[in-house]
Amino acid sequence: MLDLHSHSTRSDGRLTPTELVARASTCGVGTLALTDHDTTAGLPEAAAAACQYDMELVAGVEMSVTWRRRTLHIVGLAFDPDNPALADSLTRLQTIRAGRAEAIGAKLEKLGVRDAFDRASDIADAGQIGRNHFARVLIEAGFCDSFQKAFKNYLKPGRNGYVAVEWATLDSVIDAIHAASGLAVLAHPFGYRFSANWRRRMLGAFTGAGGDAVEVCTGTTNADEIRQMATQSTEHGLYASLGSDFHSPEQHWLELGRVARLPYGVTPVWEAPEFGTMASSRIQPQADDSCGS
Ligand code: AMP
Ligand code: MN
Ligand code: MN
Ligand code: MN
Repeated sequence: MLDLHSHSTRSDGRLTPTELVARASTCGVGTLALTDHDTTAGLPEAAAAACQYDMELVAGVEMSVTWRRRTLHIVGLAFDPDNPALADSLTRLQTIRAGRAEAIGAKLEKLGVRDAFDRASDIADAGQIGRNHFARVLIEAGFCDSFQKAFKNYLKPGRNGYVAVEWATLDSVIDAIHAASGLAVLAHPFGYRFSANWRRRMLGAFTGAGGDAVEVCTGTTNADEIRQMATQSTEHGLYASLGSDFHSPEQHWLELGRVARLPYGVTPVWEAPEFGTMASSRIQPQADDSCGS
């Protein structure tokens, strides 16, 4: 079983890369991509753990893009994590992310959330800071009682704690992933609150920019969405990917590997020639790993 979209404590996930791999293994996942937001820092640890569990780890990342003033997420898969062009692109995104976090902190502070930035930074620890960390601060400070409400009332566009930033361009992110010999996947196409027309435009722009695949099945897609995206992926000549977008065991409606199978008629992204070479070369596990080669 494959799961090509998941998060660890290196961004806004709640499990360390090792814990994530262990859980994926328990869930029957044989091939996992760790796709943290704007960082590949968790890959060496995940690769070492994957080796222990005899699991295949695919190099992954989820990169933030601004397209028509909206944020899109592009998953990179099976790339060379040491590629300098990709590293540059990630460093730029990390700088934007850090600046945005300070601005979100200042906004929440004005709403009465004490030490919002420092507390979010503490929660994020060594990981890329994001809105999920601020959601936890808001919950812990008693401003709301769920992640959904934290986003709905404070952190989503239009709310007082939202800060708009220019992430990278669609073209530059796809180019960086390609420079690193990876595959660019449009993440959760139903996750953007676009109309059907805008969704088509997004797919057109993504394909036009050289994108390779789209997530047809995620942890939250329904049968109708899967059918729609299966059709549109073949129309656009895109490979089909799948992944749970797992963040935390607390998201009880979602689990690693618990994703519908790709429907007939689509071409799975793991059948792309680029995927084969990168997946089998794997990532160099951490040096202290006895299992490493
Ligand atoms: P960021 O990249 O820091 O802006 O955060 C994006 C992340 O926030 C997503 O990957 C989700 O983990 C989370 N997220 C976004 N919208 C919501 C929402 N409405 N409810 C809960 N989590 C959300
Ligand atoms: Mn996230
Ligand atoms: Mn995403
Ligand atoms: Mn994700």
